[in-house]
Amino acid sequence: PTIAVLGERAMGEHRVAMTPAALARFAKLGFAVLIEAGAGARAGFADAAYAAGGATIVPREEALASADVVLAVRPPQPADLAGVKQGTKLIGGLAPYADAARLGGYAGLGIDAYALELLPRTTRAQAMDILSSQANLAGYHAAVRAATELDRCLPMMTTAAGSIPAAKAFVMGVGVAGLQAIATARRLGAIVSATDVRPEVREQIQSLGAKPVFEEIREGDEVTKAAGGYAGEMSEGYRQRQAALVSGHIAAQDIVITTALIPGRPAPRLVSDAQLASMKPGSVIVDLAAESGGNVEGSVAGETVERHGVKIVGLVDGASRLAVDASNLFARNCYNFIEAYWNKADKALAMPADDALIAATLLTTGGHIVHQRFAPAAA
Ligand code: NAD
Repeated sequence: PTIAVLGERAMGEHRVAMTPAALARFAKLGFAVLIEAGAGARAGFADAAYAAGGATIVPREEALASADVVLAVRPPQPADLAGVKQGTKLIGGLAPYADAARLGGYAGLGIDAYALELLPRTTRAQAMDILSSQANLAGYHAAVRAATELDRCLPMMTTAAGSIPAAKAFVMGVGVAGLQAIATARRLGAIVSATDVRPEVREQIQSLGAKPVFEEIREGDEVTKAAGGYAGEMSEGYRQRQAALVSGHIAAQDIVITTALIPGRPAPRLVSDAQLASMKPGSVIVDLAAESGGNVEGSVAGETVERHGVKIVGLVDGASRLAVDASNLFARNCYNFIEAYWNKADKALAMPADDALIAATLLTTGGHIVHQRFAPAAA
């Protein structure tokens, strides 16, 4: 079969869904690889590097006309897939919650679209998990970005001219991105603390050398655990006490990094305007949820704004700014997904609809939206 990789057309997107390293793996399985001319340029991968690995460099229309599989970092518009064969598998980051009309467009093209962000948080799916691989890099970038925006240094320094105290950084939301933000801010020398709605992440925070900021759990603070590794709910009483604790804590920080995302829903508000006003002028907030509405009141996706003297970075492209590593991990995620369904004897893909990971990710097939969460309600 033939696998095609197109240049990403989303504004500011530097990543690419195939890298020379991943190409070698696909070739070994038995795939012919077509690369749209220039597809890897913004990630620093020249056409020649793909060609040296055995790929054929072709114009977009040619790639689409021959592809059995198309990989994408961000969802292509259906109009940008004109000429694709029916039954071609589109695999990658397809942002299924963002745009219902686009899913209808994929169905209209007759392609099988697999949204890898819908993979469950299971051991089997871990190596294919694009949200994790990209969130890890975004968390790293968030800490580095905060450090460069701050007009102070992060580590404590003792100099002949006097000593400099370490800066304080607070990470809100300790998932994959938050953990990497904590580790990175620590490496840069900040005094780091963190919180989450899931009290069970305390030990993970401590193991990275940071301070957990959690109200003590009392009787009646029942926790309902949500499925799939995502955040569950704490009681109202606990939430109020926790909010008061966090408010006092935010006021003392130089850096706050927020990372709370809930797939398919607007981002929860973690920092209010009043809390911003309580911070020292010159403090920096990096909001990793800016694209889905923001964790911070007043944050603007893709921009740095100032409120009450506090800089708020509405970060949207943390992983894209690390395009080399992000592309390598993304391409490897795609490879791991495809390899799991590769039939060596037939040299063909077999993706049974009743397989858990296929059922979780398959959006469209046979001209219809088939995913239970996105299919139009039956009349
Ligand atoms: P996420 O992007 O869904 O959210 C980031 C963090 O924000 C989460 O820890 C969440 O609890 C927290 N959060 C949500 N609302 C909040 C609020 N109002 N205040 C404070 N914090 C809030 O998280 P993620 O990076 O996708 O990871 C979620 C969990 O899933 C983690 O435990 C992670 O280790 C696990 N995980 C497992 C796998 C796997 O096993 N395959 C893969 C990825 C993640």
